[in-house]
Amino acid sequence: MDPAIPAARRALLEALREPEVSRSGLDEAVRAAGATRPGPRSGEIDALVAELARLQELGASERRLVVARALRVVSALAATAEPAAPGPTDRPRPRRRADRKSPPVAQGPVDALPGIGPAAAAALGSRGIRTVEELAALVPRTWDDRRSVCPIGSLAAGARAVVRGTVVQSRWVGRGRFEALIEDGTGRLELVFFRAYPGHAERFAPGKALVASGDVTEYRGLQMIHPDVEREEADCTAVLRNGRIVPVYTEIAGVGSRVLERAVSRAVSVVLPGLVDGLPPALAARRGLMGQREALAMLHEPPGDLSIDGLAALRAGKSPAHRRLAYDEFFFLSLGIHRRRQAARRLTAPPLTGGAAEIARLRSLLPFAMTAAQERVLSEITGDLERGEPMQRLLQGDVGSGKTVVALATIVKVAASGGQAALMVPTEILAEQHLRALRPLLERLGYRAVLLTGSQRTGRRREGRRALELGSAQLGVGTHALLSEGVEFQRLGLAIVDEQHRFGVAQRLRLLQKGGSPHLLVMTATPIPRTLALTVYGDLDLSVIDQMPPGREPVDTRVVGGRRIEEVLEFVGRALARGERGYYICPLVSESEALDLAAATERHVLLDQRFGSHGVALLHGQMRPEEKEAAMAAFVEGRERLLVSTTVVEVGIDVPQASFMVIEGAERFGLSQLHQLRGRVGRGSLAAKCLLVTGSGGEPLDRLRRFVQAKDGFAVAELDLSIRGPGELYGLRQSGLAGFRFGDLLRDVDLLQVAREDAAEILREHPDLAGPALEATREVLASRWPVTGEPVGEEAG
Ligand code: ADP
Ligand code: MG
Repeated sequence: MDPAIPAARRALLEALREPEVSRSGLDEAVRAAGATRPGPRSGEIDALVAELARLQELGASERRLVVARALRVVSALAATAEPAAPGPTDRPRPRRRADRKSPPVAQGPVDALPGIGPAAAAALGSRGIRTVEELAALVPRTWDDRRSVCPIGSLAAGARAVVRGTVVQSRWVGRGRFEALIEDGTGRLELVFFRAYPGHAERFAPGKALVASGDVTEYRGLQMIHPDVEREEADCTAVLRNGRIVPVYTEIAGVGSRVLERAVSRAVSVVLPGLVDGLPPALAARRGLMGQREALAMLHEPPGDLSIDGLAALRAGKSPAHRRLAYDEFFFLSLGIHRRRQAARRLTAPPLTGGAAEIARLRSLLPFAMTAAQERVLSEITGDLERGEPMQRLLQGDVGSGKTVVALATIVKVAASGGQAALMVPTEILAEQHLRALRPLLERLGYRAVLLTGSQRTGRRREGRRALELGSAQLGVGTHALLSEGVEFQRLGLAIVDEQHRFGVAQRLRLLQKGGSPHLLVMTATPIPRTLALTVYGDLDLSVIDQMPPGREPVDTRVVGGRRIEEVLEFVGRALARGERGYYICPLVSESEALDLAAATERHVLLDQRFGSHGVALLHGQMRPEEKEAAMAAFVEGRERLLVSTTVVEVGIDVPQASFMVIEGAERFGLSQLHQLRGRVGRGSLAAKCLLVTGSGGEPLDRLRRFVQAKDGFAVAELDLSIRGPGELYGLRQSGLAGFRFGDLLRDVDLLQVAREDAAEILREHPDLAGPALEATREVLASRWPVTGEPVGEEAG
């Protein structure tokens, strides 16, 4: 990318961060960025440059608006300036590359395979496929049965079919779209290509005979959109492929489907010979599981005599091959987790028996009585602390169920027993909030709490570190900064991870390493179904707060089409006029922080112009810590009553007086995320409302309607699971344990249960997996869970 674009983006970002947008030279930067790619946006750029040149003449809020808009345009430029995925018309690549290739090996990079160049390798890499082995684990999306060709006359929309026919006529329709009509004596079928290239006219000249396969759709007659096409005689692969059951892989932009198919096939042949089957043979026999090699071969190259039922099972993901491979993943995951748990069990921790009086004192200081559920969970925790081995506990509780106070009581017990506690949270805003809430109570009990975040001033950070090192502070609250090198505790007795779904397992472990063998409490508001929880958090004991504090009404949630934004604003106006407080969540623009910032700034300016008299604050992740603190404080104290924010408020923010929320672009959020966001309101006694505004003009979506009906976080999680699948389940990805290639936590729950029990049994009988019969099992386990005891391929938080 031309360096002018990122430079301009930086300049604009900087300018927006300034309280007073005033930097000159922005117009130069934007002009330079625009010049790198004269194109459709040049008109827009010229207009922006003109506006930027007059920046100093504008009022403060107009200035912000102009700069935010410029940032949005420049960020869009950056996106289009990314190298485009190579299409068939791209210029030819240098030929010599192939000569330099070393032969492909299982653990080696995919570009060692013939046909996979740097661009295709990058495209695969973006899907998490980097090695030959990983490519061989790509599961076909479906399978084409090319053993039987369908007469066109018998086709019906909705089916996948293979047909053979002759081109009757073909033509270009508009730019890039090409249509060919084929017939086979029983009927006619239209083949449609939206991204056709010049060679299409030749390929589909009238009279050519071909075989086409794909999904049959109906639109003014039967069609196949982007069918896979092979010429009848000339192409020898057609002969090879037809008469077989052919795997069809999900399209990966930048890798042609035929290239992908061949590469996978090669990858499989590279991987198979060296594959170590780690399932103990006795177990495989007992569970009726086929060999791993056989299973992998079955997926990529089903035998020609496969029955119709066999094919249906493949397509449903329930074939013996699928089950064998899924079981394998679940089994080794369970083995790893059980072993981690065993290892933790071998550690000892001093039993902490003190603290009863201090916790009683804490109770008397609280403005409320703890719920029965909070009390029950607290006694489960107390039991753990007194037992003499490190606690390993997961505390689940819906948003707003009151996990913090349980954590506080735990901290008090540890402090009263002479230990220290660390409380790690995912955002600085949350860290500051916890400190604000916990510090006064702890101080009344004679304990000291300090803050540690990445962006706090050096002096303050040094002071915090010293207090923890010397033991003069009993609690360190912070972000990832708690994990950094220089942070040491005099006697860390308790590590708490709040909003656990935002962290990886590795970070949890690093926190534990700050002490001998401290007790661990992880907290999450993302309830996941129990079967999953047992597996994903299988090394933890589970406590659930299944009750809300008294007097909480469910948040009245409505879906509103974006065209009715004016009504939404009137709703906000009425609530503010009544003296209420609320959040305005800006649409999730993209992965890009710059774009989110631009969007939030624009919203803030506009809302401020309209509702300024009630006080409108802005909060986003790019603000300096003291600015964040100031914005939050203004909102908490009610000096500003509308908080315009990005999703940074999603985790944990607790302002009980807030009673309404508007979420723009709601359809872009995952349901669990929406639930988290919505959980910011309805935390006090006021009846709360939440408006989910969908993209402008967009019809309210069914998914959001169902969300509105879901009654709690568990219901939302189930819904998310059924709609998006477990891979997308909020927080599972970060846990590093959802990266199953073959297993599907939803489809294969039964298998998961069996595999977990089998793993437990093996470890009961052979705690160290010793002996020659388990050698392969040990080897595979070691390759998936290397020494640190962490699953391979985990992403850190
Ligand atoms: P979360 O479980 O989402 O972390 P918090 O711990 O932030 O929830 O608690 C949400 C709100 O409920 C806080 O304002 C807290 O003071 C309040 N709260 C917690 N427990 C009770 C209770 N037993 N009775 C009344 N209010 C409570
Ligand atoms: Mg919380």
